[in-house]
Formats: sequence, structure tokens, C-alpha cells
Amino acid sequence: MPEASTQRESPRAVLQRVFGYRDFRGQQAAVIDHVIDGGDALVLMPTGGGKSLCYQIPALVRTGVGVVISPLIALMEDQVSALRRQGVNAAALHSALPPETRAQTEQALAAGELDLLYAAPERLINGDLMGRLSHIPVALFAIDEAHCVSQWGHDFRPEYMQLHQVAVRFPDVPRLALTATADNRTRQEIRQQLLPPEAEVFLGSFDRTNLHYEIHLKDRPREQLLSFIRDRHPGDSGIVYCMSRRATEQVADWLNARAVPALAYHAGLSSDQREHHQNRFLREDGLVMVATVAFGMGIDKPDVRFVAHLDLPKTLEAYYQETGRAGRDGLPADAWMVYGLKDIARVRQLGIDTDTPPDQQIRSHQRLEALLAFCETADCRRPALLAHFDESHPGGCGRCDNCQAPPRRWDATDAARRFLSCVYRTGQRFGAGHVIDVLTGRVTDRVRQRGHDRLSTFGIGRDLGRDTWQSVARQLLAHGHLQTDRDGRGILFLSERCRGLLRGDTPIQMREDVLASRQPPQRRVS
Ligand code: ADP
Ligand code: ZN
Repeated sequence: MPEASTQRESPRAVLQRVFGYRDFRGQQAAVIDHVIDGGDALVLMPTGGGKSLCYQIPALVRTGVGVVISPLIALMEDQVSALRRQGVNAAALHSALPPETRAQTEQALAAGELDLLYAAPERLINGDLMGRLSHIPVALFAIDEAHCVSQWGHDFRPEYMQLHQVAVRFPDVPRLALTATADNRTRQEIRQQLLPPEAEVFLGSFDRTNLHYEIHLKDRPREQLLSFIRDRHPGDSGIVYCMSRRATEQVADWLNARAVPALAYHAGLSSDQREHHQNRFLREDGLVMVATVAFGMGIDKPDVRFVAHLDLPKTLEAYYQETGRAGRDGLPADAWMVYGLKDIARVRQLGIDTDTPPDQQIRSHQRLEALLAFCETADCRRPALLAHFDESHPGGCGRCDNCQAPPRRWDATDAARRFLSCVYRTGQRFGAGHVIDVLTGRVTDRVRQRGHDRLSTFGIGRDLGRDTWQSVARQLLAHGHLQTDRDGRGILFLSERCRGLLRGDTPIQMREDVLASRQPPQRRVS
């Protein structure tokens, strides 16, 4: 019997009647039409972009139950209770359910009463859920947080790899894979693992237009953070990310002692403490959570007014996800970061250890380059950030530090050459501090012991201040003309790329650091 599609309620009518919204946003309408017509889809939208409606509405319009695979029990429960309040027959199946509830849900499922069923991936793979579904009409399968299938990512879930079984058992049921994480490699993996080759890709804009991005040179990070909070976010909720567990506790104590209410969060706290801190952060106003990356996934607090990074995140992707936790309510929010020379050495070392296979090393090197290019750019931050999601942006956003106060650039060709020669003359065995001592003609114990005061490069950089030399070192590193040792000691050596510079054939422009401008370099070009 042909299905009477004309009698179906239109997606827009469902949007208004059930969800109380007037219009679809961005790609929602396109995805929904495609899936209602039986198509498969990869949906890439940032957090808060409105992915849920992309499967909820087709599940309501199509015959049968919509099955949603989700990795986090808390997220499932949130969605199910929100849907029930809106009069949708939704339920969840996961390991934390009391047996009676599970029995009820299974009964409702068998009776064809459910519009939407949320399930943990292991329920579908290991339990008898597949069998149960084969007896009833299924409207669609939606695989949420689909990046969990990627082995490269932080959220890898082995069960996600098994989800291709769904395709084998239910070849005619449309499938959606949805994620907010979308570097190219992860996208390809999601497609290969979870979708047929002809699945359509729906790419929403990843531009978080309400976020203001800014990056400062790390000088005295805590003081810099404190004045940022005092000047711009007194009494606001915010998240401060630090690298180490110890740092989160120290910074939280330090802020508390200066009348900024703060809590620490990291994987070394007991689960009770973590839950307690997380709940306080969610419920109270004006708390600052000082956390490692352990904090954040699945945290939905709409009014986080700033995310601050005291250390460079591991990747640009991580930066995007972490800063994305600010301003979910759509109101202006700040993504603020300080970073310096030491961060580069640390992050570089993270990606490279001797056990890492070569292709992964290359990949982590490329990731680091993208991150550093973003940090060091003197142009609008948005094109550099969005390029990562294959999205082009014209620049000139007006809501980043570089747009608001364009950094000055200077011709650093000569300075770069002097710095590189000094690294070479001192034997590529020292960190930036010693190289700068030699350049600026400081006779330290080490300089004297090594006889570096007799080098031709001794004192040839007295015209520029120490801060400027630090800036030169950082930018040479960031642009790959210099490398650091694998042990993270900060030892500098020349890389292949610096040849043109050393010979003097290739000019180089650098951005003028605001702190470095105490002693302005000469020959500024703009
Ligand atoms: P995601 O899963 O992509 O992070 P959600 O589906 O949770 O995003 O949607 C984010 C918020 O936007 C929710 O509060 C949702 O109700 C709201 N929303 C989604 N689509 C629309 C729309 N078309 N009109 C108004 N609000 C919407
Ligand atoms: Zn901009």
C-alpha cells in the first residue's frame, strides 16, 4: 500500500505545534526533508546549532520509532524529559535504569507506542534491542556524537565501531550521524564507519558569532587573568583551563584569596568532589571553574560568559570545543587566552614521543602548526579558526582582538637572521634564554664558561630589547624555522625551513607583541 505522504503533518507544522518554534534554523529544514524522504545524512553543526531537531522531527513525521544512539546517560535523560514535557513519547534504555523502568520501556516499544527511543551504543550492539526492533517499524537511526567512532579523537568509544551492524540489519532505514567535532579526518572516518557512500553531508556554519576571541602574550598569567575578570567579567560565570591538576588548584586558591569565587576540577579529585563542584558551577551564579580538559563534555550551562586558557590547548579543535562552552545562550562572551614561548615547546613535546607511529607524528605536527598559525596571526582570527572546519570566512569580523586593534608588523628579516646564526654558533644546544644573553651581550656565568662572549654573534643584538628577542624566538618557532628538542627542555635548533631566511633570500614579517613594544624594533613597515 503506498504511504499517503500528503496526510503527513508537515515538518514546519510539527516544529510549531510540538516545539513551539516559528522557523527552522540554518540547515535544519534541508536535513529534515532529506531524512523524511528516506535519505542518509552526515550532519555537522556546532554545539547549540540545533542538531536534535534534525532527527526528532523526522522521527515524529515518519512511521515507526526513531532510535537515537547517544554516549552519555545524562544527555539522554535530559533530552527524554524535555521531550516528554512537550508531549512526545520518548524513553531511554541504558545500564543505569531500574529493571521495572526497562521492562515498561520495552513493552511500550513492542506495542509501537514510542516516537523516540534513546539508547546507549552497547544496548544496541550487545543486548537484544536489535531483535526487538526488527519486529516493529523503525523511522530512523540517529547516531549522536558520531565523532566517538574516531580513534584519533579524545572521545573514542569502541562500541561505536560496531554500529555498522545497524546498516546490515536495517538497510532500508535512514541513518543520520551527527557531530559538532569536524576536522576533515574525523569526518571521513565517520562517513566510512557509519554511513553509506551516498549519504549527503549537511555542513552548518561553525562560526560562533557571539564569541569574542583574543590572545595575549603570557607575562604574569594569574595577574593577567585577574585583571581580565575584574575589568570585564566581575560576578560572571566562567571557565579557566590549565594544563596540570596542580595548577587548577593553585589558581583556584589564588583567585579565592582575591575575592573571585573559584573551584578546581580535574580527574584527580574524587568523583564526589567533582560532582559537587560541577553542580555548584551549574547552579550558582558567578563561579569560576578552574579546570583541566577533564571538565566540559556534556556540560550545558548557557550563561558561561568567558572561557580563559592559561595554557595553550593541545589542538585548534580542542581550543574550539573548549571556547565553545562560552555563550551558549547566544549573548556576547569572551574566549581569552595567554600564551608564550614555553607553551610551544610543551605542546610540541606532547605530540611527539618515540612510540608514536610516524604518520601520527606528522599529523600532530600539522595540528600544532594550525594552532600556532591561529595564535600568531596578525589578521582576523575567524578565517584561521574556521579554515579548520573547511569553512571560509572573509575576515574583518570586528569581534576579535586583531580586528579591534590591528597589531603592527615589522620587517624582522635581519633580526631573524641574527637570531638563527646565534643558535647555530652556540651549537644548537641551548634554550632561548641563553641565546638571547649572547645576542644582547650579557656576560653570565654560562656565557663565560662556554666562551660564548668570544663568538662573532656576541652582542650583535643590543639594539633590540630582550622582550623583542623573545618575540622573535617565539615566532620563529611558531612558523617552523626553529624546532625544540623532544624532551621539552626548550633547546632550540634550526629546521630545514630556515634556510631561505639564513641566506637572506626570504624576508619575514613579524607581529609586534604588545609587551615587546616597550622597546620598539626599528624599520617598522606598517
Ligand atoms: P546541538 O544538539 O546541536 O548542540 P540542540 O539541538 O540542543 O543543539 O539545540 C540548541 C538549542 O537551540 C536548544 O535550546 C534548541 O531548543 C534550540 N533550537 C534548535 N532549533 C531551533 C529553532 N529552529 N528555533 C529556535 N530554537 C531552536
Ligand atoms: Zn576578526
